[in-house]
Amino acid sequence: MNLRELIQRVRNKLTPHAELSNEAVVGFLRVLEDIRKEELSCAEIYSKLDEYVECEIDCKDAAHIMPLIREHLDICQECCDEYETLLDVVEKMDKEV
Ligand SMILES: [Zn+2]
Repeated sequence: MNLRELIQRVRNKLTPHAELSNEAVVGFLRVLEDIRKEELSCAEIYSKLDEYVECEIDCKDAAHIMPLIREHLDICQECCDEYETLLDVVEKMDKEV
């Protein structure tokens, strides 16, 4: 997706309503920014995975507290495997204590 072209297209569409256009474009950009924020890389997931696993074990509500990580785990097999391995290890450690 070409961001600049997309913004230009939105601007062109909104030109007849000049007073609205700036606000509308800013709103549109915010939405785009949110979408980009949701695209966490595997490295980012990996660095938060231990936190997620701890949360999962402590309160069983990790998916609710860190939905972006849960989402990534659903779509990324590699990270999901890593998560399950980590969860397994931490659960075993907990039982031994
Ligand atoms: Zn991943």
